[in-house]
Order: sequence, then C-alpha cells, then structure tokens
Amino acid sequence: MNESELKIDFVDLKAQYRALKPVIDGRIQRVLDHARFIMGPEVGELETRLAQLSGARHCVTCASGTEALLIALMALGVKPGDEVITTPFTFIATAEVMVLLGAVPIFVDVEPDTCNIDTTKIEAAITPRTRAIMPVSLYGQPADMDEINAIAERHGLAVIEDAAQSFGARYKDRWSGNLSTIGCTSFFPSKPLGCYGDGGAMFTNRDDLAQAMREIRVHGQSQRYIHTRIGVGGRMDSIQCAVVLAKLERFEWEIEQRMAIGARYTQYLSDLAKDKAELLSLRSDRSHVYAQYTILALDRGRLQKHLNERGIPTAVHYPIPIHLQPAYTQFNRRDVPVSESLASRVISLPMHADLSEDTQRRIVSAIAEAPVAR
Ligand SMILES: *Cc1c(COP(=O)(O)O)cnc(C)c1O
Repeated sequence: MNESELKIDFVDLKAQYRALKPVIDGRIQRVLDHARFIMGPEVGELETRLAQLSGARHCVTCASGTEALLIALMALGVKPGDEVITTPFTFIATAEVMVLLGAVPIFVDVEPDTCNIDTTKIEAAITPRTRAIMPVSLYGQPADMDEINAIAERHGLAVIEDAAQSFGARYKDRWSGNLSTIGCTSFFPSKPLGCYGDGGAMFTNRDDLAQAMREIRVHGQSQRYIHTRIGVGGRMDSIQCAVVLAKLERFEWEIEQRMAIGARYTQYLSDLAKDKAELLSLRSDRSHVYAQYTILALDRGRLQKHLNERGIPTAVHYPIPIHLQPAYTQFNRRDVPVSESLASRVISLPMHADLSEDTQRRIVSAIAEAPVAR
C-alpha cells in the first residue's frame, strides 16, 4: 500500500472536486466573467433549483446555516423573553441565535438511540412564553417532525427544523428542510451539500415568511434604501451559489452513496465490533444522509487513541452539551441525562460519498481490534 492509500480522510472534499472539476470550474469562471458577485443570477437559479428539489414553495439563500436560523427566528418575530424549545445535544449555533435575540433556549432531552429531540418530553416544557420549537435533525436523520408539528399546532407554535446536517434526507417521502413552518440548512463545506466557504438556505411554504426572510437577509430592505424592518447583512454570494449548483450535478448520487455507506457501517459494525460500540438507530419512516456516522463507544478515549494510531481520524459531535457550556450556564438544567450521557460516548467515523468499501473494512477492523473496555 502506498502513502495515499494508507491515509484516510474524515471528509474527502478533494475526491469530490476531482469528480466535478469541469462543472465547478466552469460555474465559477462564469461568475468571474459576469462579475455580479453579490445577488448575481446564480442566487436565484440556486433558490429555484432547491425549491424544486425539496418541494418547498420558497427557498431563500443566506450567508450560513447559523444566519439561516437567526433570520428564521427574526422572521417569526421572536423577541426578548420568548422561549424556544430545542435540545442541548447539538451544534452551538442552534441555541446561540436564540440568545442573540434575547430569547431563552429551553432544553429538552433527546432519544438515546437517535440523538434527536424526545417528543414525549416537549409538552411539559411549553409555557405561555413559548414561541417556537426548533428540532435538530442530528447527524442527518430527520427528527419526528409529524409529532412535533402536531404538538406545535395544539399550542399555536411555529416549528423551525435545523436541517443543517440533514438536507437530502427524507421523512415519510418528504424532504428534510420542507417539513415545518421554516427549515434551515447549511452549505458549510463538509455538510452533505456544501459550498467552498459559508452558505445556507431557508425553506418555507408561507409567502409572508419568505418575503420577511428575503428582506431581513438584506438589512430589512423592501426597496433600495427603504428599510422596512431590522435585518442583517446575510446574503450568500454568487460564487458560493455557483459551487452548490455544480455540486447538484451528482447530489442524488451522493445521497444514495451516503445511505449505502451508512448501511454498510451498520452491517460491518454489528458483525464485527458489537463489543466495542453501540449503534444508533435509523427509524423506518425516514432516511439518513449521515452528515456524520456516529457510534456510541464503550470507552471513547481508548477507541479514539487506538484509531488515531492507525491513521483513522475521528471526531466528537459534541463533547459538551450546550447547557454545560461556560457561556450558557444561566440556561443550566438537571433534567437532560440522556444528552449528558451521549456527550461522553459519541464518536464519529470518516464519512463522505467517495468512501470506499475497502477503507470502511479497514476502519471497522481497526475498531474490532481495539482494546476491550473493562
Ligand atoms: C453546521 C450546523 C449549523 C451551522 O451552520 P453554519 O453554516 O456552519 O453556520 C447549525 N446547526 C447544526 C446542527 C449544524 O450542524
């Protein structure tokens, strides 16, 4: 085996670029030629394509996944003192945007086998101040959106799906991102659909919210230099839209690859490494795009060290739940034991659409050979 065969990438963006080089280069070159770097024709083209793909009436692109969540909350009129229900077991941005608006994140625990919000615990967290529920479709598997929407409907709440990791996954044959009042995704380079910088998008079927989000994205501007509402500088630039448009060329293939690679990990791990790690579940009414393939290690420190020594990169999503983060101690709580336990056990394995079966076998064999926890 030569060097390059030995080295395993956690996410291989170079292989993806090699496969799409003529399309990506051509798309970027066109932006350089027309020079409309902000709000160029690629922006509208991408929004139309993503709306068609997801089935949503509107897609509004923006500067990042974080910005998408922020703009969504602003469009819904979330204000200081409002409560928004989410989980503490997610990337910081989910709660950060609430706190930025003076709203209060209310952390509800997650299911131990999917790491998504435990819908049976949502209703107990609703108060007269609750404005919205923001479930996260963690690792690429949609949360139980029908159940969440039903609860929201009973209490007159909006639902924002944080679909930053799950765009491309289906829930009962519908696209993640188009499952609630607003869905938000991210085009961070390593997400299932990524650009070459920062980018994001919001999806909705409501005309009023789409209009509000379009305005908020450009400083609350309804006409040039007429600022109807408070907004942000939150546009996605033309070159990033061009990159996503190019990547759509094989996105469906990548989704299928990701699903197949995820299924293969599950199979190999249950055959060979049952005593080294516990596996998460995939619900039968949805698909999973495996933004991360994450397992529960019996002894994470040892497993991570063992894999690292064999050239296998791993990551931890996420080691500290948000309610225990130093800047979030005012939102501390005691009733999220599942999130706390998961944070100490999760470990993510290399995952990307070009991951070969051989490499997967090497990774799983290495896990199987890891020292047993005692
Ligand atoms: C990546 C991510 C975000 C933020 O997206 P950015 O584009 O990096 O701002 C938000 N929520 C979750 C769950 C994410 O994984």
